[in-house]
Amino acid sequence: MSIFASIFCPKIRHTRLTENMEIKDKVFEKFIEGNDIAKRIKAIAKSINMDYNGKSPLFIAILNGSFMFAADLMKEVDISATISFVKVASYNDMESSGNVKQLIGLAEPIFQKDVIIIEDIVDTGRTIKKILNEFTSLGAKSVEVASLLRKPLASSADVNIKYLGFDIPDKFVVGYGLDYDSLGRNLKDIYQLKV
Ligand code: 5GP
Repeated sequence: MSIFASIFCPKIRHTRLTENMEIKDKVFEKFIEGNDIAKRIKAIAKSINMDYNGKSPLFIAILNGSFMFAADLMKEVDISATISFVKVASYNDMESSGNVKQLIGLAEPIFQKDVIIIEDIVDTGRTIKKILNEFTSLGAKSVEVASLLRKPLASSADVNIKYLGFDIPDKFVVGYGLDYDSLGRNLKDIYQLKV
């Protein structure tokens, strides 16, 4: 883990805000304000601008959940850069009897590029590991991860998130691009499932 992520990444453990939001059959409470998200994104972009000074990284945003984070992050990146978008499709492989994740829509050549993956949230770390392996095998010069959120399980998954927004508890969250049953992506704050 980078010094940046380990020292400056805020750990959000408790719900600090009380505004409730009903989405379908569930009640969520406000958890991270849009203003705080914006501040973290500015800090992340500042680090990226310094780390990639003189390079021209290729950002790859993982849709759908990262669309808002990606848009706001890119507005703060002031070095030469390109961005592309991919999706991760899950399907059940009968032979391996597991849920297999496949990357779709990768149109950009990755070979010899400095890649920064933009992800909304890392939970078990399975998705990001799959993507990291794929980009590495395609010959990327370097691959780093920028994730807005990280849940506790990710730390046992041995995934290095160089640019991290917030460490959060293991509770379902929605808003700022993240959905509950396709709803809530448009919310400018992040909400946590109320139990
Ligand atoms: P992982 O492979 O790390 O277990 O899962 C990562 C993916 O699971 C994320 O990209 C996201 O789509 C989904 N996910 C994990 N936790 C949450 C959550 O709390 N809320 C929402 N909306 N999606 C989540």
